Amino acid sequence: MSDCIFCKIANGEIPTNKVYEDDTVIAFHDMDPQAPTHILVIPKAHIASASEINASNSAVVAHIFEVLAKIAKENGFENDFRVVNNCGARAGQTVHHLHFHLMSGREFTWPAG
Ligand code: AMP
Ligand code: ZN
Repeated sequence: MSDCIFCKIANGEIPTNKVYEDDTVIAFHDMDPQAPTHILVIPKAHIASASEINASNSAVVAHIFEVLAKIAKENGFENDFRVVNNCGARAGQTVHHLHFHLMSGREFTWPAG
């Protein structure tokens, strides 16, 4: 998607504060952090939202969860984090390229607002 900001991050057109990268995913610090640690993990391939996950692309989602766990372990918060996905405008999705928020470093309330 040529006008997708996260596709541009994935292909290096827009620089980010990168945490992790491999062939299929990239993780970087959120530019407007909602917690002391707030990292986004995205597939490099464009998937618009969680409702677009299907049998042909779900392997990357499993891989994203491995990467989330790896980042949490490497940063010492493996038992103290929240993963969030917002799907659709009413749920708070503002960037229409699948991403998972990995947040840690503070208390989180439940249910989330
Ligand atoms: P959401 O509201 O769930 O779609 O999350 C989108 C997130 O992307 C927000 O937390 C933004 O702060 C973040 N964001 C948008 N553009 C960038 C960027 N260029 N670099 C880092 N984070 C970004
Ligand atoms: Zn995209």
